[in-house]
Amino acid sequence: MARKSLYAQRRKEGLCYHCGEPATVGRYCLDSWYANTAFNNLGSRKLAPLLKELWAKQKGYCYYTGTKLVPGDNASLCRLRPPSKGGGELRAGLSNLCWTTKTVARMKNDLTDRDFMKLCRTVVRRRSKS
Ligand SMILES: [Zn+2]
Repeated sequence: MARKSLYAQRRKEGLCYHCGEPATVGRYCLDSWYANTAFNNLGSRKLAPLLKELWAKQKGYCYYTGTKLVPGDNASLCRLRPPSKGGGELRAGLSNLCWTTKTVARMKNDLTDRDFMKLCRTVVRRRSKS
């Protein structure tokens, strides 16, 4: 079967687009979701076990807000020190990565952990006066 029609068939049957296991996270199974997230963020599907380990370490909760994370819904991988500020390297393993909500990841963008925390405090300080 041609690759394209194999994928179309899997999608029609509710199977993981990538591996053919039951799709539980959008078009993917959970393992393929980790693999895709590893590829998209770290450049290699082989780093998926690192992300699973990090997820387990955080027990599936956002590093910053404590919000329950749902794969394929609100979960996002975040770098404490962003690539633009030297945090692109994986040498440090998991220590520069955290799982957050997508909202937090958008807010933090390319801020360092320290600058993001500073911004949060500024917002709270200013807005709690009004
Ligand atoms: Zn899969």
